[in-house]
Amino acid sequence: MIRTYIDDSWSAEDDNILLLAGYAQKVPVWAAFSDAWKAELSKEPAIEYCKMSEAESRKEQFEGWSERKRDKKLADLARVIVEYDPWSIECFVSQKQYKEILEPVIAYDLRGPYMPCFHGIIVSLARYHASTGITLPTDFIFDEQGKIGAEAVLWYEEIKANQKPEIRALMGSTPEFKDDKKVLPLQAADMIAWHLRRRKENRNARENREVMEILSPLLRVEVEVTETVLRKMADDMASLPHIGLTQGKRGSIKRHMVGGKLPEMIALVCKNKQCGETFDVMKDYLAQTGKAPCPFCGQERYYIPWLARLIKWIFRI
Ligand SMILES: [Zn+2]
Repeated sequence: MIRTYIDDSWSAEDDNILLLAGYAQKVPVWAAFSDAWKAELSKEPAIEYCKMSEAESRKEQFEGWSERKRDKKLADLARVIVEYDPWSIECFVSQKQYKEILEPVIAYDLRGPYMPCFHGIIVSLARYHASTGITLPTDFIFDEQGKIGAEAVLWYEEIKANQKPEIRALMGSTPEFKDDKKVLPLQAADMIAWHLRRRKENRNARENREVMEILSPLLRVEVEVTETVLRKMADDMASLPHIGLTQGKRGSIKRHMVGGKLPEMIALVCKNKQCGETFDVMKDYLAQTGKAPCPFCGQERYYIPWLARLIKWIFRI
């Protein structure tokens, strides 16, 4: 089994990119890495954990450190990453472009720049693995403090279901969210995501960070959610029948979700004011027909906002 640890980094510069990045490696190697990372953290000057935002501002764990002292610590930690030879995956999107192109048409439950990036990361990594003959599936671990929500878990199952069998076979179980202070490879993901995001900012583009030099021998898989991809997604989305019903808060199906998933049976309240009865509909029926006739008054309402159906449609790209 391969495990991939991913962190998100958000820019406040230029086009406000969102970048997801992290490292993949076999599970036993990660176990050895974690011991080595912990040992490196404990070396004098010791820190309990490494977080790039704290290192950069020299606060918290790096409080009172000189830049030189901080840089040396980061370089030593980066060398630990290189020693265990993980390969990285990164995907970014311009939030400015996302807002202009996709946000005006996107279904409420899919809104936010995270979704196209999340899709880009997991599908691209599986495709890369397939192209290199890797046969082990990949699990994903995300930093629980990131902005990714429970809906990503639902996206994952649907994205997976929409891949070719040989790609699907390389996608592991539902992503998990862990504490980066306890799950140490997430600190390596933070390190690479932070540096890659920073390098994409115009004012920092020429900056030469020692950490990036040290990490440069490792294999990188890069993906960009380009303007073309966003336009394709937006066109696809806009042409969906009844798309208007999925936009805005009222179009959300999340209120039907239990523990991050839609139950087999969904309880609906009849919208006919004279009726107002509650009845259950099978989610598969909703997904296929997009409508639910009330068994009490017979009024038929469209419930096209079935998230999985939308995702199936979007993710054909
Ligand atoms: Zn009714």
